Amino acid sequence: MTPDDYAAIAKRLDRFAPVPDEVLADIVTHEGLCFWVFDRDEMPDLSGETEPDRELAAWSCAGCPVVNSCLELELRVAGEHTVGVWGGLADTDRRKVHRFWQWRRQHPQGGAR
Ligand code: SF4
Repeated sequence: MTPDDYAAIAKRLDRFAPVPDEVLADIVTHEGLCFWVFDRDEMPDLSGETEPDRELAAWSCAGCPVVNSCLELELRVAGEHTVGVWGGLADTDRRKVHRFWQWRRQHPQGGAR
């Protein structure tokens, strides 16, 4: 993934900015695939450093209807300390998205970065 990819993902999450944490948590825990189709404990531990890890993260979350809500919530709750698979991304990629996401939230009027 490139910096432009991370920036685009962060931009995609702008629409969630006004949504309260509790609402996001409710959506993710009720509609997230890993909460009702399979056990989150069965999700793999990924370093996020390799392409296979990224593909496995995407595969684990494929078809989940709340990928963006999940990613937004994880970025808020865990931020740069995020680990494991959330929001269709391995943690290394989420940490990179977090930098763009945080900048956009701190500069909502100039979020063209
Ligand atoms: S995006 Fe992935 S980690 Fe998040 S709720 Fe959906 S399946 Fe679970």
